[in-house]
Amino acid sequence: MALPDWMVTLAVAASFFCFFCLFVRYRRTTSAFCRKLFSWIMARTEKPLFRIAYTLYTRTRLGYMYYKRQMRKARENYPAGHSTTHPMEFNGVKIIPISVLSDNYSYLVIDTASSVAVAVDPADPQKVQTVLEEEGVMLEAILCTHKHWDHSGGNKGLKRLHGSCHVYGSAADNIPGLTHALSHRDSVRVGQMHFKALFTPGHTVGHMIYLLDGQAVGAPSSLFSGDLVFLSGCG
Ligand SMILES: [Zn+2]
Repeated sequence: MALPDWMVTLAVAASFFCFFCLFVRYRRTTSAFCRKLFSWIMARTEKPLFRIAYTLYTRTRLGYMYYKRQMRKARENYPAGHSTTHPMEFNGVKIIPISVLSDNYSYLVIDTASSVAVAVDPADPQKVQTVLEEEGVMLEAILCTHKHWDHSGGNKGLKRLHGSCHVYGSAADNIPGLTHALSHRDSVRVGQMHFKALFTPGHTVGHMIYLLDGQAVGAPSSLFSGDLVFLSGCG
């Protein structure tokens, strides 16, 4: 025999009320239990979840689409760049930081005597191209510190615009558009500029940093550190 509707409604309401009273009575125990359960789940899933997300970001089209979306948003939100940068010039070498995405920097390093330039980590090709045109210089090389899109995303776009431009980086890092693989302490010379590549795995398996030798131009050396892992952070 089916129960009348009013009796079912009353039973459901009474059950909810009982659960609510129990929750209020034991809320501390319940929330502690929930916290422990959440920590337990996270401890067992954090690493695999990170691996899945990282693989999607670095090895699939999804990662590239995510980077493109971030770049579009950054161009809308920061049309003049996320911060004001100041170029540095000493004895014929000019270094221009270019603010890209929401908190990254690319660098254009120019030999002013021969009007040739090197781009370091050109994440947003459009922004780097604008500065190249403003400065009236030829892009001869791209030095890429590592494969992540927020550092390497503009390699192929700039290579298409500047056919003779070489793309340097570590062969261990699956860098987009790489044309010249570098090893530890290899040199790259562009105009009077002399860069030394240093192999610094950690942030990625093939991360490299680039040291611009200041001695050749009688100036301090400059280090382009990418996302090199330091004691309290990276970059
Ligand atoms: Zn990175």
